[in-house]
Amino acid sequence: MQQAISWGLLERDLAAWRKQVRWLDRRLERLYKSPRHGNLDNPTDEVFFILLSKKTPPERYLPVFDTLCHRFRPWERLLRAPLDEVAEVLQPLGMSRIRASQFIQIAHQLQTDFGRVSLESLRTLTLQKAHAYLKGLSGVGEKSARCILMYSLGHDISPMDTHATRVLGRFGLLPEDVTNVSAHRIMDERLPRGIAYRLHVNLVAHGRTVCTAKRPACETCMVAQRCSRQGLTA
Ligand code: SF4
Repeated sequence: MQQAISWGLLERDLAAWRKQVRWLDRRLERLYKSPRHGNLDNPTDEVFFILLSKKTPPERYLPVFDTLCHRFRPWERLLRAPLDEVAEVLQPLGMSRIRASQFIQIAHQLQTDFGRVSLESLRTLTLQKAHAYLKGLSGVGEKSARCILMYSLGHDISPMDTHATRVLGRFGLLPEDVTNVSAHRIMDERLPRGIAYRLHVNLVAHGRTVCTAKRPACETCMVAQRCSRQGLTA
């Protein structure tokens, strides 16, 4: 069984952490080949897609996103849409009036800031400025902002969702009880450049299919040989 890596700030710990993460990255890429998970190139589409996907499985939010696109795309249609009409589309996912209100607010904010309901202008901003802008949109938190930055705007940044955090925690690359804030800080400080996207999408694939929340399939896991949890799970 591998030893969990120390969380001290010593250089040798950082070198060991990076060696381990590079090994995991290469192995997961061979297994999963960077699936896109349905995420979108268009950052305006992606903001609504990401907000619908929060704590919701794909089989529930994907049909709702399709209906939302059909009814309100181009997104300028949200500027004139009654709240009840948007809420009706979002109703299968719950909190439909709150979500509908956020979507309408986002549309109005983009119209005010850019003269159109589009996030394309963010492509010309620095990572820091685009990040700050996204965090200012209604309902967009740290993880959602990072997803839009990574999936649609091409930035080398890690969004730590439940799958990525769980797999890295079990593997020994994050403390298992890590908060989202700390997970983002650790990844920002430690992750080698250029691998955030590939590592993230492959961690999500591994977390959905093998290293699942309730019953991780350690006995058939193809990265078990270096996992700090190997042999500890039933
Ligand atoms: S060995 Fe088990 S805990 Fe470790 S990554 Fe694989 S499935 Fe997850």
